[in-house]
Amino acid sequence: MALERWDFVVAGSGAGGAAAAARLVAGGARVLLVEEGPPARPAADAFEAVQRYYADGGLRAAFGDGLLPIPTGKTVGGTTTINSGTCLRPPADITAGWERASNGAFSAGGFGRLVEEVWRSLKAKTAPEETMTGASKLFLKGLERLGISGGHNLDRAEDGCEGSGRCCFVCPKDAKMTSYKTYLAGIHGKTGFELRSGTSLVHIDVGTDGVRIGLRLSNGSDFQLQARGLVLACGTMSTPYFVRKFRLGAAWREAGKNLSVHPAAKVMALFDSEVAPWKGVPQGAGVVDPEDPAIRYEGVYVPAEMAAMAVPLEGRGLRRWMDAHPRVATFGFMIRDESRGRVDHPLGAAHPVARYRMGPRDYDRMVRGARFTARAMLAAGARRVLLPFNIEGNEVGDVRALDALDLDRPGPAALQMMAFHPLGTCGTGRVAGWDQSLGPRVFVADGSAVPESLGVNPQVAISALGLRAADALLGARA
Ligand SMILES: Cc1cc2nc3c(=O)[nH]c(=O)nc-3n(C[C@H](O)[C@H](O)[C@H](O)COP(=O)(O)OP(=O)(O)OC[C@H]3O[C@@H](n4cnc5c(N)ncnc54)[C@H](O)[C@@H]3O)c2cc1C
Ligand code: SF4
Repeated sequence: MALERWDFVVAGSGAGGAAAAARLVAGGARVLLVEEGPPARPAADAFEAVQRYYADGGLRAAFGDGLLPIPTGKTVGGTTTINSGTCLRPPADITAGWERASNGAFSAGGFGRLVEEVWRSLKAKTAPEETMTGASKLFLKGLERLGISGGHNLDRAEDGCEGSGRCCFVCPKDAKMTSYKTYLAGIHGKTGFELRSGTSLVHIDVGTDGVRIGLRLSNGSDFQLQARGLVLACGTMSTPYFVRKFRLGAAWREAGKNLSVHPAAKVMALFDSEVAPWKGVPQGAGVVDPEDPAIRYEGVYVPAEMAAMAVPLEGRGLRRWMDAHPRVATFGFMIRDESRGRVDHPLGAAHPVARYRMGPRDYDRMVRGARFTARAMLAAGARRVLLPFNIEGNEVGDVRALDALDLDRPGPAALQMMAFHPLGTCGTGRVAGWDQSLGPRVFVADGSAVPESLGVNPQVAISALGLRAADALLGARA
């Protein structure tokens, strides 16, 4: 039987892969996009969404100081289908640094233009006042009382958001601009493009006349096809597997190292009156730390059905906070990390094993983030605040008690944190070339290609890298 042939195969339909596929199609190429996960449908509750559409049923994590959960999506649209939709541009000083490091091979101006294009495609706009959560209002009120300026509504990728608070569990209104909605819905079914869900990349053989690509269906059957080029966009945790296994690019041995994650944590605050935390856009407001720009505060909401697992208390204390759920406001923070981890794949591409240890400077920032958030909530009138440390006395009722709490000693192992932005494991300029290539026929276009920790939510930057990789492939073909 003749081998199926495509111009390009894109593996992974997330922020990077979907943007790359749409750009290649717009450039006149025949493109097959394969996605390991299924198409997403709104779920009955958060647990169902996590089981169906998160990789490893939501249990993906790094170990090192303790367990650091790193959730990622495994569905059409990748992690954008289960993300918060917040849009931030990659900081100009960081992209200028890439231009310098690459001796001009990476153009900060050119990348900035792609970022603006992504911004328009995502219909990014400021979250309207009427969708702000009670928690965000309280946090901003606390900042105001402390005389701290800069708190604002965040920009989000949405078209018709009603503030139903389920962004991370598949938007029930189909309002969030996922990468499927942004890049793929318009080309789905068109001649020259095919999206196959439940289909995983498993094998890559780069030859002189093209790439032989092995795919596996969800029923376990394998087949091969031929393409002129391949875009790797399986995400920061999986792409390095392929780079190492198939020795792609001169620096393939380095793939998997340099993992940055934007460690994040949250403070819970108990108020006398109802906050109704489930109403509104969970991540609709934020502020940059006035003294340390590497710390960013953003709204967050953990649905009631999951909250108990994310409260650093046991027994009666846990029950008290759970019973008070309608009066609890939660606010989060994340840091631009200096620490680095690594990802290995002893069990294959689908089961990354990540290690990450937090250095002292990052830990200090996490402590500052927790204190700052707690102080804002106390200023807003919180009765008590619960800090993200698994230590005695993590619950305090006033600023004096907060200041007296020794948070320097517990260390990262006591910190209850998560990480939502794994980046950098096949960094551009380190593992991939500055044009994102791993040799003439394979390009990388996902979070793994981001050279370093960004300090901002990365979906806009990753989609811009997706467009950039596609432009390079189209250019190479011309
Ligand atoms: C809960 C949560 C909230 C977030 N909120 C925000 C936010 O508000 N703003 C923001 O900017 N960022 C946010 N992020 C992060 C952002 O969504 C991700 O950084 C981004 O989507 C990553 O894009 P990617 O292309 O690297 O990978 P992904 O979007 O993860 O896509 C990779 C895809 O590849 C597929 N895949 C993996 N292996 C294979 C294979 N072998 N074959 C085929 N397909 C494969 C996966 O199933 C997945 O669908 C959030 C993340 C999480 C977890
Ligand atoms: S708040 Fe609700 S409607 Fe708005 S994007 Fe999130 S899930 Fe969708």
